[in-house]
Amino acid sequence: MATSLRIRFEGAARTVTGSRHHLFWGERSGLFDCGLFQGPRDEAERINRNFAFEPSQLDAMVVSHAHLDHTGNLPTLVAGGYGGRIHMTPATADLSRFMLADSAFLQEKDVEHVNKHARGRPPRRPLYTPADVEATLERIDTHEYHAPWELWPGATVEYFDAGHILGSAITTYTFEQNGRQFRLAMGGDLGRANRPILQDPEQLQGIDALVLESTYGNRVHQDTAETERQLIEIVERTVQRGGRVLVPSFAVGRAQDFVATLHKLCERGEVCEVPIFVDSPMARSATGVFVRHPELFDAETRHLFEHERGAPFGFARLRYVSSPDESRALNDRREPCIIVAASGMCEGGRILHHLLHGLGNPRNTVLFVGFQAQGTLGRRIKDGVEKVNVFGEPIQVHAEVAALDGFSAHADQNELVAWVTAIKPTPRNIFLVHGELEAAEALAARLKEHLPTQVHIPEKGQEFDLWT
Ligand SMILES: [Zn+2]
Repeated sequence: MATSLRIRFEGAARTVTGSRHHLFWGERSGLFDCGLFQGPRDEAERINRNFAFEPSQLDAMVVSHAHLDHTGNLPTLVAGGYGGRIHMTPATADLSRFMLADSAFLQEKDVEHVNKHARGRPPRRPLYTPADVEATLERIDTHEYHAPWELWPGATVEYFDAGHILGSAITTYTFEQNGRQFRLAMGGDLGRANRPILQDPEQLQGIDALVLESTYGNRVHQDTAETERQLIEIVERTVQRGGRVLVPSFAVGRAQDFVATLHKLCERGEVCEVPIFVDSPMARSATGVFVRHPELFDAETRHLFEHERGAPFGFARLRYVSSPDESRALNDRREPCIIVAASGMCEGGRILHHLLHGLGNPRNTVLFVGFQAQGTLGRRIKDGVEKVNVFGEPIQVHAEVAALDGFSAHADQNELVAWVTAIKPTPRNIFLVHGELEAAEALAARLKEHLPTQVHIPEKGQEFDLWT
């Protein structure tokens, strides 16, 4: 009797966060990604705590990359009884060590804060603890790109470079029975060509079914040259005013990309006179992981790194700020500078005290280089709200507000379509996940226009037979 192959979409279906896809191969089942759903507290709590299966019944766990919307719920799975291995690339493992620990720390702080203001509501408890994170890290097995391993009898898994963040992978599952083969590709988050530091996403061939992200399925990003031109202008006019450029940034990936871009411009003789401060302990830890994995850099970055003593992660005008005192001391500086600090959406971290001291000054610029979700302080500032609260203090926004979207680590509509179109032969089935419905529908329309394929936009909980 033939072994059947099925997939059930249990997260990031018609939404961006909380990736969780469930594969069934005969009697075995495995999860692909186990991310945190990020949203309103009650909804997030319900979704993240509950699995559509018993974690102890799961046979395998495979992870695409270290972003928390793909890994951040692994400790809940382990705390819930999952006893198997967790597969990921070595760089994903290195990043996950401190990202999951930080996630546990933030949850404990959040629960503490909420319980303090509970007013009779039953106390909450964190999704997981540092001990759960420790137990999770012990289950990790690492696999390099292009080093296939046997997941189950008749099922082999292989990682390819996704060019999204350090260690990010496109994952293929090859199933075999009775001399026949079926190849399923999980796109994970797909990166973009010609970005700083990382290699371009690898082009796959010979795929029967593809699960693909659609974050920017309805958008086209600004190109690199235009992004750099605007960045130079923003820095120049801020420096001329005698102000500082405050850059809220995600600590992992975006901060390093931004710094590498500044280094490149500096090498070309542009934006060179301005000191750059990276004021984020997380960004510093993440940079430490980058430096341990030069094998993952593109040729240009590797050459720089080997010949210019650590550039683009360390160079003369760049300083990593460690202690809170040193961070606060930046407020007393008179000279223009660029300060990169987390969090990317201004929901916490050291960027807040820089905003507290900097937003009211018309000489300064707040420069957004990442996505700003609805309801965040970053979004309000970006949308041009005149008065915002920082640490409970009302502040009139007089600083210039600017945004560059060319730093995105996700392929845009044209890049996604080009990547899928280059797969020969065209996959018979494509499942669009990790995108709002509008974005997924726009991408589906483009793909169907170009290619002889079935495009599905699964709902949460929807199941498909892939191969029978
Ligand atoms: Zn990602």
